[in-house]
Amino acid sequence: MMVRSACEEAEEFRDHVARWVDERLVPVAQDIDEEGDFQHALTRELAGLGYIGTLYPAETGGAGLENPNLCFAILCEELARGSMGFAAGICMQGSTATYTIQEWGNAHLRETYLLPALRGEKIGAFAITEPNAGSDAGSLRTRATRVDGGWVLRGSKMFTTNGTVADFITVVASVDPDKGARALEMFVVDTKSEGFRVGQKLDKFSVRSSDTAELVFDDVFVPDDHALSSETGSGFLNAYRSLTVDRIFTAALAVGNARSAYDAALRHSRERSQFGRPVGNFQAIQFRLVDIHARITTAALHTYHAAQMADKGQEITIEAAAAKLVAGEECHRACHEAMSVFGGYGLMREYPAQVHLRDSYFPMIGGGTNDIMRKVIAGQLGL
Ligand SMILES: Cc1cc2nc3c(=O)[nH]c(=O)nc-3n(C[C@H](O)[C@H](O)[C@H](O)COP(=O)(O)OP(=O)(O)OC[C@H]3O[C@@H](n4cnc5c(N)ncnc54)[C@H](O)[C@@H]3O)c2cc1C
Repeated sequence: MMVRSACEEAEEFRDHVARWVDERLVPVAQDIDEEGDFQHALTRELAGLGYIGTLYPAETGGAGLENPNLCFAILCEELARGSMGFAAGICMQGSTATYTIQEWGNAHLRETYLLPALRGEKIGAFAITEPNAGSDAGSLRTRATRVDGGWVLRGSKMFTTNGTVADFITVVASVDPDKGARALEMFVVDTKSEGFRVGQKLDKFSVRSSDTAELVFDDVFVPDDHALSSETGSGFLNAYRSLTVDRIFTAALAVGNARSAYDAALRHSRERSQFGRPVGNFQAIQFRLVDIHARITTAALHTYHAAQMADKGQEITIEAAAAKLVAGEECHRACHEAMSVFGGYGLMREYPAQVHLRDSYFPMIGGGTNDIMRKVIAGQLGL
């Protein structure tokens, strides 16, 4: 199934990506889920086709599209239809990890990290979450201390997507832990820097082929020109802005994954016969498929609406959070219902229903949990 947006550019773009997904990603999706490793070759291939720069203007090496947010959402959706794990890594590479440099980086940072990332030659990550600071991002303890010619970073980060394979990481750190969120700044850390190490690669049951790591910064020197925000206090607002846009793309991941769950359930309902007829002939199964379809349509429309508002430069705090909340929950329910269409086969590893259900948890957590989305929206509504 597919819900089309009302944008011609985005739908043409979708048709191209969808072909790549069907030919290159779908056939290996199950294997890469089992392997649980970052896919370098596929990432480079996708970059070679120009897709990683979807969000950016031509002047900074991007695709120069008229509707970049909607097209990037559709890229995330289509990739997630093939493999949400793979899509999550690309989503990070083509949005938050590079967005921070594209928006607030100088020419040197763009040359050294952004352009190679868009070509798939360097991998990027974004690290705000810490072992003791998740939803409460303002309480993070990674410290940036001023030294001659730059900063020294000390602390650790948790759940960093692309963390073990990253060549550069935008790290959010505090220049004064007593001042809370107002003292946060962003720094681009080259992972070749002395003092940086991967604490551990994390083993997950969801989005297995996206790389997730705990990272350690043990007095890592970061030169002045690698600081992304010059004025103290702008770091948190900039990080917040990046995370807000990113919610739209996480919503799109949920939509793509659920579409794949629907397609598989529909196929199964036609192929599997009981009581002398396909199970899809039973009204109970039909109603379930209709509910799944309606849930995905709702999720997709929320996502496209938020993306189109972003493309018009409109304020999207509520819409982006609502898109992620609605898409996360509706698509999770859709995957749960799709699983039931398979009966016992749904529990078997060789059937994709269990991957869809496992992966459907990620959009309800990555970029902020569902209840944090509710908290964001409540705040915006003045509650
Ligand atoms: C696969 C994966 C990839 C990720 N990738 C990245 C990444 O690349 N970079 C990065 O920085 N982070 C990343 N994250 C981290 C993610 O953003 C956090 O996991 C998320 O924000 C929740 O934080 P937490 O896990 O510490 O949960 P906690 O904050 O400990 O939350 C626990 C529970 O308490 C609830 N809760 C907390 N505070 C409130 C409140 N005020 N009101 C109501 N309920 C509340 C939460 O909703 C949740 O149910 C990733 C996470 C995962 C699982």
